[in-house]
Amino acid sequence: MNITIVGTGYVGLVSGTCLADLGHSVHCVDINEEKVQMMKKGEVPIYEPQLEEVFLRNIKGNRLFFTTDLAEAVKKSNVIFLALPTPPGGDGSADLSYVLEVAGQIASLITQYTVIVNKSTVPVGTAKKVGELIKLKTSVPFDVVSNPEFLREGYAVEDFMRPERVIVGASSKKAFEIMEKIYLPLTNAGVNLIKMDEKSSELTKYAANSFLATKITFMNEIANYCEKVGADVDKVRMGMGADDRIGHRFLFPGIGYGGSCFPKDVKALIKSGNEIGYDFKILESVEQINEKQKTILVPDIEKHLGTLKNKCIAVWGLAFKENTDDIREASSLEIINKLLEKGASIKAYDPIAIENVQRLLGDRISYAKDMYECVEDVDALVIATEWGEFRNPHFEWLEKRMKNKAIFDGRNLYNLEELEAHGFYYKSIGRKIII
Ligand code: NAD
Repeated sequence: MNITIVGTGYVGLVSGTCLADLGHSVHCVDINEEKVQMMKKGEVPIYEPQLEEVFLRNIKGNRLFFTTDLAEAVKKSNVIFLALPTPPGGDGSADLSYVLEVAGQIASLITQYTVIVNKSTVPVGTAKKVGELIKLKTSVPFDVVSNPEFLREGYAVEDFMRPERVIVGASSKKAFEIMEKIYLPLTNAGVNLIKMDEKSSELTKYAANSFLATKITFMNEIANYCEKVGADVDKVRMGMGADDRIGHRFLFPGIGYGGSCFPKDVKALIKSGNEIGYDFKILESVEQINEKQKTILVPDIEKHLGTLKNKCIAVWGLAFKENTDDIREASSLEIINKLLEKGASIKAYDPIAIENVQRLLGDRISYAKDMYECVEDVDALVIATEWGEFRNPHFEWLEKRMKNKAIFDGRNLYNLEELEAHGFYYKSIGRKIII
């Protein structure tokens, strides 16, 4: 099939590349000229494991193209995916301006029956809104479909190619048939394509993300309570997760969730509820608790070091989670800002995300080339992201380099006994403090 993807961010570029790998001819459109030039030269503009190989294979196979010209791409396609940003507006609701603007442009460009597929995360009723907008501008037949994306950054290619489900919300038989054809290579391999109406499909995405954010936050509350009563959250987590109805995933406590999805989707669902007079009480608590959780280690650091003035603190991990360069709403940034406010200086290291943080914080902090250089002469080390390379450090090397042997671990990476044996002060989340 001939497909256009509008927006080549984490979702658009991965979807476009993978759809090309499923045999479709895909035209990716972005307004960012620099990005499009990079992609035309065969360079992947984001960090995403496995993406480069599939991307290059499909460019070579003449199935994957890039342009800034929406009209040129639309002319060649009868299916148009929107993978545009839906950031939180000032009041927390999803900002639909990107989606509606492009939908308006598409309306004046289509000349044959077209399916407009919304992959962006959007509030209930957006498919209807987009349909009404297009109808005002054209008499060419079209359908609007909701096809929310569930990929995880860091595992995006794998998630797209082997999803646990594909959700398609539509109200026309023709649109369903086209969507089934697009995903046929996946459904033939056993993937479940679940059909529903547009509104239910739009809400499925918000409900799934809000549920996961709630699961993480619930566990963070249990962890905080463990600290007060002397229980060990690792033991509690294992005991709970052994119950099939609960499962082990998303039970790891830490310094809160971040990223470009959970925070904004929780906010947007609360706001959508408010708009019709419905109060999502659980989600309001989730949001508040998560905000607090992000900097929960700061008072501990302050207590241990006395004052933070003129103290140098190393931060390992800047990305909002491992395997990505995405720093949107990352807990690391909140901690760094709080520590800077209190007079500390920061030396930071991340395997991939340093450039993105440099663009944001510039020389307000310093950056290290590797994790050991980062801890040279510091008063404490804070771990903000669960990167694999932080999981098994040479503790002897840390002992030699750090001025003060104190680790504040926001991701519970280490065994308490090991840290005790090395003589570190070690504070993690929901577990005993090693002194
Ligand atoms: P992103 O910010 O990484 O990418 C968006 C892209 O759209 C950018 O390249 C931008 O230049 C481009 N763009 C903006 N306006 C444009 C226009 N008028 N024409 C063409 N291109 C334009 O966003 P993302 O993370 O890929 O998210 C896209 C949507 O998918 C959001 O609604 C998000 O909530 C949802 N989503 C994201 C993820 C994720 O893990 N990132 C997962 C599932 C769903």
